[in-house]
Amino acid sequence: MMNLTESMEAFIRLVQIPSVTGSSREKEACAFLENILSQYEISSERIARSEERPNLLACLRAEHPEEEPVILISHVDVVDGNQECWLHPVFGGERQAGRIWGRGTLDTKQLTMMELYAFLRLKEKQKELRRDVWFLATIDEEGGSSYGMEYVKSVRPELFRNAMVFNEGGGFPLRINGRDYMMLTVGEKGVLKVRIRAEGTGGHASAPGDDQAIQKLAEALRKIFAAEEKLACGSRHTQDTMREIAGTDEWDNPVAADIFGYAGQNSIGMRNYQIGERSNVIPAKAEVILEFKVLPGTSKEDIQEFLDRELSGTAAKYEILSFEPGFESRFDCSGLKELVQDLNTACEHFGFQGQVMPMLALGRTDGRFFGSEGSLVYGCSPLLMGDSFDVVLPKVHGNDESILEESYLFGCRVMDEILQKNCLKKKKDKEDRHEGL
Ligand SMILES: [Zn+2]
Repeated sequence: MMNLTESMEAFIRLVQIPSVTGSSREKEACAFLENILSQYEISSERIARSEERPNLLACLRAEHPEEEPVILISHVDVVDGNQECWLHPVFGGERQAGRIWGRGTLDTKQLTMMELYAFLRLKEKQKELRRDVWFLATIDEEGGSSYGMEYVKSVRPELFRNAMVFNEGGGFPLRINGRDYMMLTVGEKGVLKVRIRAEGTGGHASAPGDDQAIQKLAEALRKIFAAEEKLACGSRHTQDTMREIAGTDEWDNPVAADIFGYAGQNSIGMRNYQIGERSNVIPAKAEVILEFKVLPGTSKEDIQEFLDRELSGTAAKYEILSFEPGFESRFDCSGLKELVQDLNTACEHFGFQGQVMPMLALGRTDGRFFGSEGSLVYGCSPLLMGDSFDVVLPKVHGNDESILEESYLFGCRVMDEILQKNCLKKKKDKEDRHEGL
């Protein structure tokens, strides 16, 4: 059985593999995990759109599954780092001042290794499993996932339906109004991209006429942004639960206040624009791409309706380019209630005093491929207060990414305990059976 010292050593070695998205080292990270699994006599399967960029899948089968499978996902690719801006080697995995330094220590090699630790320990008790447990480490997450999770889904669609998924995005502690909370992501916002376009009469800049594309576009944008607050669609269930748990709308921690606000609002941002080519020519066409970030439950039609309404009477036209719906794993479902309870107990057990608080992930993750199929997806890589959300957030994709050794060990222990509770036959059943014998 893997112990915590071995797990920490393996984590450091994984951090030392510079598996930057799209580089040949992604494969090395995959081989590294494959090798550990085989040491524990667990076979794994490479799922690869291109042989050079494999994803890794392994499973512990339950003899008689009673519940939907648990899937432990994470990504082993990382964004690059600029060594000149780091005090520690970007891929050094150095241990100093009680921390482990290196790219991927928070996004998401720590999660890969916490999950692997718990997975290997379940192997010892495979006969007691009440549900199948999958370990899935992917690449290309930082590059859009077309070689990673999206590809895995295209060849193994059945895995993505009706599962309970452990994912990145949450597990960070946060102090709010003097109390500590463990943030658990339970959903993600949807993203819609739309092109807004206007046409007019082009010509030389010395003689601008009345029929100008830019003016028409500007008028359309003014109307859209002025109406942003009227875009009220989607679910505020997560935000309501956050309010309930904290007992107030007033959150003193600015990062926490942002997270709270984020869970209640739809927003519109400008992504790209194309207006004219030369300064002395009035363009005949002008267009911008807008990105709508919308609460879970918002449909494409909701946004279409908004655009139809706001653009009526203007001379601009729109074209929806893409829509990825959000998802929300309801906070009042029994599976989640149980998980939250187990997580509360485990956190307390291993040194974190505080309550679990749900939130929406601050961006999109590979969890979206499961959430859109109705699976329950939870972002959970539990850390201690020394790695609280406000401390951790600037380091993800930033400089000197690092994790407290104690946080890493805490995460392994918590993950191990909640998976044992969630995946093994209930103790009570077992005792009953023994009595029966
Ligand atoms: Zn990332």
